[in-house]
Amino acid sequence: MLSPPFDYSLLMPGQIRFGWGARRHVGSLAATLGRRVFLLSGSRALTERGVIAELVDELDRAGLPVITAMAAAGEPVVGEVDRLTQSWRDAGAGPGDCLLAVGGGSALDLGKAVAALLPQPARLSVRDYLEGVGTGAQLTADPLPLIAMPTTSGTGSEATKNAVISSYEPPFKKSLRSDRMVPRIALVDPELTVSVSPTITAHTGMDAITQCLESYITRKATPIPQALALQGLKLALPALGPVVQDGTLRPEREALAHAALLSGIALANSGLGLAHGVAAALGIQAKVPHGLACAVMLVPALHSNLAVAESPLAELARELLPRTPGSDHGAASALIEHLTALCAELGIPTRLRELGVARDQLPALVPASHGNSLSGNPRAVSDDELRDLLESLW
Ligand SMILES: [Zn+2]
Repeated sequence: MLSPPFDYSLLMPGQIRFGWGARRHVGSLAATLGRRVFLLSGSRALTERGVIAELVDELDRAGLPVITAMAAAGEPVVGEVDRLTQSWRDAGAGPGDCLLAVGGGSALDLGKAVAALLPQPARLSVRDYLEGVGTGAQLTADPLPLIAMPTTSGTGSEATKNAVISSYEPPFKKSLRSDRMVPRIALVDPELTVSVSPTITAHTGMDAITQCLESYITRKATPIPQALALQGLKLALPALGPVVQDGTLRPEREALAHAALLSGIALANSGLGLAHGVAAALGIQAKVPHGLACAVMLVPALHSNLAVAESPLAELARELLPRTPGSDHGAASALIEHLTALCAELGIPTRLRELGVARDQLPALVPASHGNSLSGNPRAVSDDELRDLLESLW
């Protein structure tokens, strides 16, 4: 039996609007937040598919002027955050305005960072505010209100309180994090994910699954996020294989989008663990996409935590699998085997070298894996142990 700590607080978006075609509500929702909308589009494909024009039409119908910008490809870097913040400051963005970020996790994170920086009286770089590498600067003003609209089902960024910001020179991948940064509205329209490729669907889906699992067993776990993470796994595990085969399956697309949202609420409140710690390092040192890195690291991370997380993993196994062995060890192991088989079905590599990681990059991955995610891992992981783990996975 779990004995959750009945002493916690819970952060969530102020409003969640979820549903097939829910993007059509963007005008009425934005009208509750501001008189003008600064719209960040995550990709050219959204423009080409007519999604951005459709949103601008809806906002226009609600009487809201729109200023648009396009995110660069890839995960947001310090320079891009600073440039977009300055550009929208120059356009007069401030109190009374709201932001709408549409795209994958990278675009949502960029939108969240810019929304946070715009109203700050100190005109600092985003780098000053980042965990680990910043100057300790704190957000003193509330971010501008933000509507987060995901177009992939994975990071759950629409419900989290951080934005992951990268730098390649010097290399780091760190969070701008504040309770104030949870988006005011999460507007989740699973129909927008139908065009996501099988590969991206597999990787982002594994990210959501990893977030549910890591937040469930983390040492910071609390009861409501655990209930949401379990529900996320119930939805995502059976849906992912079929929807990678046929991206048009509506119930499976809905299930995955909902699982991603739940995983975001869970991780915002409970944190993550070893898989996400190493995934951040793989992202910055070897440019491995986040979801793929999580997918590769999930099973090794669970094996590494098995001795201390047997009981919660067994709880999950009994809820998620049709038949499980009676002992906690047997049930937890059965869940890890199930996940191993899912990764194999999805074609997830098992070796770091298959991700383009060179052997001489392994030492640099060790310090880069330490951070907020690893601090929540069910047990402490030493540098030596991390080095051995990475070596064994190479
Ligand atoms: Zn993740």
